[in-house]
Amino acid sequence: MNRGECEIIRDLIGLNGRESRASTRMISQHIRQCAQCREYYARARGEFHLDMPMPRIWDALDTQQRYLRWSIVTLAFLATVISMVVNFAVEQKLTWGWIVAGAMLTIMVPVLVYIQTFRLRFIKAMACFTVLTFLLLGLTQYVTYHAMHMGGVWLWAVGIPVAALWLGALWAGILFTMLLRRNGFFCLALILLLFIPADIATGALTSAYLATPFTVHWMSLTLYFIAAVTAWVMGMCYEAYLRKRS
Ligand SMILES: [Zn+2]
Repeated sequence: MNRGECEIIRDLIGLNGRESRASTRMISQHIRQCAQCREYYARARGEFHLDMPMPRIWDALDTQQRYLRWSIVTLAFLATVISMVVNFAVEQKLTWGWIVAGAMLTIMVPVLVYIQTFRLRFIKAMACFTVLTFLLLGLTQYVTYHAMHMGGVWLWAVGIPVAALWLGALWAGILFTMLLRRNGFFCLALILLLFIPADIATGALTSAYLATPFTVHWMSLTLYFIAAVTAWVMGMCYEAYLRKRS
C-alpha cells in the first residue's frame, strides 16, 4: 500500500460521511487491504458514531461485491467439478478435466482481480491473465502429451511463441493508448491491426511445426483490417463528441 494513497484515503475519511459515493467506494476498497487505515477509520468514525462500532460503509458496499465474487467463484467451481466428474466417469482417470480447471482459473482470477482492485485494475487483471495463459498452455501440453498421449511436444515450437505474439499485440495496444492518453476505441483499433502480423506469424509457425505448406488467410486479415478501421473511426467520433460536450 503506498503512502500517498493512504493520505488521500485519510483525507476522505476526514470528510466524515459527506464524501461522494465514488469516494465511499474508494475508502471501502482501501480499508479492506490496509490495516492502518482500517484502524484510522474505526477511530475517526467511532468518535462520531459511537453506536456504530463496525464501519457502516464497509458492510453496505461489501455485500454487493461479496455477492458478485461468490457467484463467480461458485460458477467456476461447479463447472470444474462437473467436467471433472464427467471426465472421470468416461476415462476412469482425470485428464482433460485438469485443462478445464486451468481454463476456469485463467478466466476467474483476472475477473476477481478486476473487481477487487481499484487502481490500474485493467492492467492488473491483464497481467494475471497473461501469466495464467502461459501456465494453462504448459498444463495443456503436459496433460495431452503425458496423460492422454495425444499429439507431440508443441509447447516450445508453437504454443509459447504464438501466445506471446497475440498477448504481445494486446499489451502493445494497451500500453500505447495509455501512454498517448487516447480512448479505448483507439486501443482496440491498434490491437486489431497488430493481430494481422500475429495471424501471419502464427500461420508460419504452425505450418513449420506441422510441415504443411504456409498459406495466408486473406479473409481473416481483411476482417481484422476492416474492424480496426471501424474502431478507429469510432474513436475519432468519440473524441469529437467529448470535445463538443466540454
Ligand atoms: Zn492505507
